Amino acid sequence: MMKLQSLDQHIKRLAKLDGTKVPIISCYLDLGSEGADWQTTLMQREKEILSSPWPTATKSGIVSAFNSIKRWLNSELEPSSRGSAIFARAREGDVFIPMQFGVPLPSDIAIDSVPHLYQLVRVKDSLHEYIVLYSDSKSARIYEVNLGKISEHMIINRPDLRPRIGREWTKLHYSRQRRERGRQFLKQKIDILNSLISERPDCDLILAGDSTYLTRLTRELPRKVADRLVDAVAISKPHSTERILQETLAAYVKAEEEESLDTVDRLFLTHQRGDLATIGVPESLQAVFHGQADILVLCHTSDLGKAHSCSKCGWIAYGEQNPEVCANCGNTSLIKRDVRQELTRMARSTQCEIETVASSERLAQVGGAGCLLRFRHETLGHDNYQLKKGNQYVQ
Ligand SMILES: [Zn+2]
Repeated sequence: MMKLQSLDQHIKRLAKLDGTKVPIISCYLDLGSEGADWQTTLMQREKEILSSPWPTATKSGIVSAFNSIKRWLNSELEPSSRGSAIFARAREGDVFIPMQFGVPLPSDIAIDSVPHLYQLVRVKDSLHEYIVLYSDSKSARIYEVNLGKISEHMIINRPDLRPRIGREWTKLHYSRQRRERGRQFLKQKIDILNSLISERPDCDLILAGDSTYLTRLTRELPRKVADRLVDAVAISKPHSTERILQETLAAYVKAEEEESLDTVDRLFLTHQRGDLATIGVPESLQAVFHGQADILVLCHTSDLGKAHSCSKCGWIAYGEQNPEVCANCGNTSLIKRDVRQELTRMARSTQCEIETVASSERLAQVGGAGCLLRFRHETLGHDNYQLKKGNQYVQ
């Protein structure tokens, strides 16, 4: 099952992939939702793609890539997989990167000269990685949840309390002993959390269990651990592993969404102050293209439209009309692209992070994209051209 760190490496590698004459297939499949029939989806889309008038060599590459995808799906899928993403290109600059996830991904099969990576970035951004500490009076369980799936599991039992009330121990002694064991148990849990958190610099924390334990545990957390705490989730019985996963995952996705909305607020505030930020789709394309963008913020529900990208230098003209020539290098070969995918790919091929927001009216009103910047464009001396909405270059 795909883990966060490997997913990030795959995204970066795919984003930097050079285009060839043979296109790459980006195949996302929903394997787990009710009513999802990925076999039919795959078969229909393959037929549709192959019915286009491809040159013979290109077509044989596409057939071969689809065959690799089908072979892998038939032999390598794990029973618990609910979503899959496969990138395949054959004949020229072979690529075959298959991934499986514990969560469903919406089915979408695209063919393009570059891979479509937005869906992967969205999974990474919304599910990420966290540790859950679940506690009750007798034991504690620690789970590591990676991209929506439990990857590690540890049980800590409370030190055994064998009461020998009577001749040896008075009742007072017994209750002191009991409190001491309780403290030791709490300390043991916190120590384990501390070491797990130190080993995982990007990992968040969620506490779960009976509300009485949660309050005490939250109070006792050292600063370093408390800084990673996303939420404390009171869970009613039954405390099954499945239930703990479901409830903490819902809390995590919600907290991530709030954090994304905070980033949107920061974006607009920075922009209003005239500081390092830009809003709008053409403005974001320009910022990402020039390597100015530090964080690209994308609204998941907005339609970002299409653009034309120069096959030589990557420069992008925004809008539906076909430009004849690249304003940056004069090349006459421009390819129509999906802006959301192109922004994602360009951002991940540089150091630009991406924050995806499930829904933000404010961001949607400006087209669905904005960037927090590292530096201003003018400081690079690139201000001899500018992109204007409607696909007009202005010298
Ligand atoms: Zn160009």
